[in-house]
This record gives sequence, structure tokens and C-alpha cells, in this order.
Amino acid sequence: MGLRFVMLGSGAVRDNPNRGGPAQILQVGDRVLMFDCGRSASTNLARAGVGCEAVDTLFLTHLHFDHIVDVPYMVFVGWVKGRREKLRIFGPVGTVDFVTRIIRPPFEQDIQSRVAHGKDVSALHPEVVQVDREGKFLAVEGYRVAAAFTDHGGIPTLVYRVDAGEHRVVITGDGTPDERFVAFCRGADLLAIECSGTPEFLAQQPWGHWHITPADIARIATEAEVKRVVIKHLVMEDVTGDRTAAYRMAEEIRGGYEGEVMVGEDGMVVEIGK
Ligand SMILES: [Zn+2]
Repeated sequence: MGLRFVMLGSGAVRDNPNRGGPAQILQVGDRVLMFDCGRSASTNLARAGVGCEAVDTLFLTHLHFDHIVDVPYMVFVGWVKGRREKLRIFGPVGTVDFVTRIIRPPFEQDIQSRVAHGKDVSALHPEVVQVDREGKFLAVEGYRVAAAFTDHGGIPTLVYRVDAGEHRVVITGDGTPDERFVAFCRGADLLAIECSGTPEFLAQQPWGHWHITPADIARIATEAEVKRVVIKHLVMEDVTGDRTAAYRMAEEIRGGYEGEVMVGEDGMVVEIGK
């Protein structure tokens, strides 16, 4: 069985009109797994031909706003469009609090007005599970998911790995992984990894040390024998407006890694195993 990866949003914090906030999906058979839900994620999901109500499970990497700001929209539109199964949300410690607060109470008037017209409120509430340790945490028909942590400015930040049949996909949030990350990624068909800027750019930012460098991405991808790398979370372009920055970083990665390196673009599709 093949997998289908869609980069929904290749951007980051700022309102870059060419790149939505962090979000991607992995389609495993008829299951839609979504990873992060940043600015414009729901709209980009619709552009990919998938309704909010069709997302089975949402995996949040961390609670920086650029990765989660579209969560309430996705939850409410899924509810309005008649989601059949409860949305499941996995995320770091703090996710229960975030999801609870973002749905109720801010939208209480909306909820009450829809309930008054017969809408079933029980279908609104996602089932939320916090992932507070590394390793496998989900095994369902067709796929398994494991988590690892990265060091990202002191907030709990997860990387997810999906194993489905003989295929493996690793999707990072932000931050720098430790030396065990190579084993975690071993043999992945695809590594979708943040690449926020060149070392020179990162050195100028107060938050620069929260992020991995292109040279480290090349080293990890090589040592782990990853087949393909997609870079995303392209902050440098957000800040400088330089649309060549991501391509220069991709070139730097190619200098230390022989596999395929792609610069993430919104709507980019990667078929795996087809
Ligand atoms: Zn972050």
C-alpha cells in the first residue's frame, strides 16, 4: 500500500502570502493523518481535495502558535460539515488545556446557537491524548506512530514517525534532535524536516539556537540512510523576503547528502511506494 504526503503549509510564523503556516497530511489508505495545523491549514487542506471532517487524527508537534492557530477552525468546520467519527488529537503536554480552552468558552455563543438548531454537541469535542514519553504510542490497523523529543526553546516538542507496511515517514516539529534521532529515522522513505535558516541567519536571531542547521540535516539524513528529504518551516524567507534562501539551504544539504532534497511548497505531493 502506498502513502501520500501533502505539504499543506511550508511557511512559519509570519504572514508570508506564498507559504501557509506549518501543516501537512499523510494519507494511509483511506485514513487522513494531519501533522500541525498552522495558518491557512484548513484552506490548504481543501485545496488538496480533503475536507476538515475527513481528518481522522491530528498530531501537534508543539504549542507555538504558528503550528496550532487553525485548530479551532478545523474543529468547528468539521463539526458543521457532519464529521462522523470524533477527531482525535495527539500532542505534547499542554494540548488538553489548549484544546479545551480554544473550543470553550470562546465560542460558547456559537455553540449554543447551533445546539438550539439541533446540532449534537457531543460530536464537537475532540478526543485529546497527550504524548509525554518517547517511543510507540499508537498502533491501529494500517499504521503505527512513535514520538521523539527535540530541544526547542524549552517547550515540549515532538517529532512523529509513521510506519505503514514497509514504509516509514518522519515529520518533525521544530528544534534540534539528540544523537538517538538517527536511529529514530533509520531508513525512512521521507523525512519532512524544519529548516528555518542558514547558520549565519540563525546566529543573528535571539531564537536561532532553537533550530537545526542545513549541515546537521545532511548529516542525519546520510547517517540514517533516509531516501528523501523535504524542508519546511522556511522562516528565513518570512523574515528577509528572499525567495532564494530555501533553495540555497537545499543546495547546502545536497553538499553533504546524496539522497533527494526538495524544498517544500504549499500543495506539494509526495507519493511513497507507488
Ligand atoms: Zn516552534
